[in-house]
Amino acid sequence: MHKKNINTGNLYIISTPIGNIKDITYRSIETLKNVDIIAAENINHTKKLLNFYKIKNKIISFNKNNEKKKNEKILKILLNKKHVGIVSNAGTPLINDPGYLIVKKCHKKNIKVTPIPGPCAAIAAISSSGIQTKKFCYEGFVPKKKKKIKKMLEKLYLEDRTIIIYETSNRIIKTLKIMSKIFGKNKKITFAKEITKIWETIKKTKLKKLIKWLKSKKSRTKGEIILIIDRNKKLKKKKIYKKILKTFKIVKNFLPTSTAIKITSKIHDLNKNILYKYILKK
Ligand code: SAM
Repeated sequence: MHKKNINTGNLYIISTPIGNIKDITYRSIETLKNVDIIAAENINHTKKLLNFYKIKNKIISFNKNNEKKKNEKILKILLNKKHVGIVSNAGTPLINDPGYLIVKKCHKKNIKVTPIPGPCAAIAAISSSGIQTKKFCYEGFVPKKKKKIKKMLEKLYLEDRTIIIYETSNRIIKTLKIMSKIFGKNKKITFAKEITKIWETIKKTKLKKLIKWLKSKKSRTKGEIILIIDRNKKLKKKKIYKKILKTFKIVKNFLPTSTAIKITSKIHDLNKNILYKYILKK
């Protein structure tokens, strides 16, 4: 353990397994042993991990419901020169898990924050997706309401980086159907589920095929899911930009803007709402 700021303890952001209990680094185990206290998203869940590695340490609860209250407590412990380790139920804390506020506070108070890197479901998924990994964006969970899902996906339609999103078993088909309407049924997508667990599935396919495959057997949707979606290559290419705009300009000479957009979107196989926004931006 490094101790830089001798007037306070250090805050450790400790990554833990995302399924297979053996996916943990030596350093994570060492840190879980050596910190003065572990702040865990779920005490029982973390106890199982500690028991497996024969670690005995004090655990306090730290989750999205009590985070604000617990931040003060953790800060006090750190200011008391004690070391605290944050763990979530799986993977890297703060990645769609609590911890951001305490990390922010620590930076403000000059308390050393040390990451102990390890598993992260999003990174495991993209690295095995077969979809380009050079540039990507992480969008977290898809919203629950249809209107919000549409809004999110319409915004992502223009994304020219690979997109990582999380979705739950019970909503996956609904979301994929909306996605298919916006992105087109031939969009390349990788369905990554239960990574490092018994039912691990990494399937690269097209949207329409994925929907069909998932619908054909209910158990296929069960488990923890990540979707890796291919970037928009169409609109990035300058020639295609120009082509779309050219069509639009010609049609617009004869018809009102909204009809011209409808016709242009049909010709170029694009979602009309997106084309509308796209044209307005130009
Ligand atoms: N902090 C975690 C990480 O670094 O992986 C992510 C936490 S987020 C609350 C939980 C979501 O991550 C799940 O709903 C699922 O979408 C994804 N996830 C976590 N573990 C997974 C796994 N083993 N396989 C596939 N997706 C997983």
